[in-house]
Amino acid sequence: NKISNHLPTNELQALDAAHHMHPFTANAELADTGALVITRADGVNLTDSEGNQILDAMSGLWCVNIGYGRTELADAAARQMRELPYYNTFFQTTHVPAIALASKLAELAPHDLNNVFYACSGSEANDTNIRLVRHYWAAKGKPTKKTIISRHNAYHGSTMGGASLGGMKGMHAQGGLPIPDIDYIDQPNWYVEGGDTDPAEFGLERARQLETKIAELGADNVAAFIAEPVQGAGGVIIPPETYWPEIQRICDAHEILLIADEVICGFGRTGNWFGSQTFGIKPDIMTIAKGLSSGYAPIGGSMVSDEVADVVGKAGEFNHGYTYSGHPVSCAVALENLRILEEEKLIENVRENTAPYLAKRWAELEAHPLVGQARICGMMGALALTPDKASRAKFASEVGVVGLICRNRCFANHLIMRHVGDQMIISPPLTMSRADIDRMIELAVKSLDETL
Ligand code: PLP
Repeated sequence: NKISNHLPTNELQALDAAHHMHPFTANAELADTGALVITRADGVNLTDSEGNQILDAMSGLWCVNIGYGRTELADAAARQMRELPYYNTFFQTTHVPAIALASKLAELAPHDLNNVFYACSGSEANDTNIRLVRHYWAAKGKPTKKTIISRHNAYHGSTMGGASLGGMKGMHAQGGLPIPDIDYIDQPNWYVEGGDTDPAEFGLERARQLETKIAELGADNVAAFIAEPVQGAGGVIIPPETYWPEIQRICDAHEILLIADEVICGFGRTGNWFGSQTFGIKPDIMTIAKGLSSGYAPIGGSMVSDEVADVVGKAGEFNHGYTYSGHPVSCAVALENLRILEEEKLIENVRENTAPYLAKRWAELEAHPLVGQARICGMMGALALTPDKASRAKFASEVGVVGLICRNRCFANHLIMRHVGDQMIISPPLTMSRADIDRMIELAVKSLDETL
């Protein structure tokens, strides 16, 4: 196979367009535009096939929390591959990396989330959650408690289960989704949907939709509510302060399990180990992936409370699992990633230094004529673009057109930001320096100016 970094970009792009079906991409367009070919990465920077240095303000797909180029993780993977490249965790077998990572996660996770069921991704972990919560209620003698309530515009993965839990209309329109017994309430997106309502009141109103939905379905039919502490792919939707305490009250009052999807928020993104800690949530289950290995190896999982794990454990065999549940190489990489996060105090540093500085610089962008709101939570943020700041109006063009133009200007200026509709999103590595933040802001302003 002669295909390498040394081939000219257009040849790589032509081969890519001919043979590679990309996720979340209009593949036919690739033949004309060609995909951006990334060849190397170090720290917060990517290098493309033309040798350009690109600032990655998205940490890949919200996942490279410790930044690129940490050879310790490569060494951990190589050591593990030599020692035990694979063994499974089915049928009463286990191995040391799976044990070590489970113990470490139990130590890091809040309150009694002391148990992990491994998966290879966030989607798979959420599929596990669907079966786990229904199995749990059946084991407790309440088999009718099956419906899982989620939120419109949420993203919880791309498998049949994950995409059904998600509330993305575009995904539901393809391939026969959602699966039965999933229901939805509205997201706490004050900027877009709050109108004249005060944010605190809006947060309460959106949370109380959960209580209304439970009443409509009957609490005896509801298994769980799932949500991200901060909705990420939906557009970095930071809920008003009133939202989570009310959601927690409702789940507790009606015996509904609370699943916090921490695939993005986990492992430092919001300035604590988990978003649940930032927002004072006490989930029964947490979905984890992405930052667990900083994206260096595929791994995810469900962190489960002692009570849920106990009931499920005593109910006999849970007929569920993946060949790569607790893959030894991924576990070894994740352990090394957690060691770095902990020993280098990366999360404390985010909380005390980087996030406050980023928040200050990010807020300055609200002065830009196109930006209606610059919101930020730890190391994830969004710019809401609008033609009229006062009314928070939408652009006359179809939603997303201006965002796409801005995203393309960012690409041209060697900055990776993502657009969700007309919101510009960042989720940079936790290791960003002040100089990196300054460069990001400078490139963002340039790109916004060119979008006008
Ligand atoms: N849950 C959330 C909140 C996510 O953001 C994602 C991915 O972006 C997933 C689940 C799915 O994770 P994966 O892509 O690893 O399957």
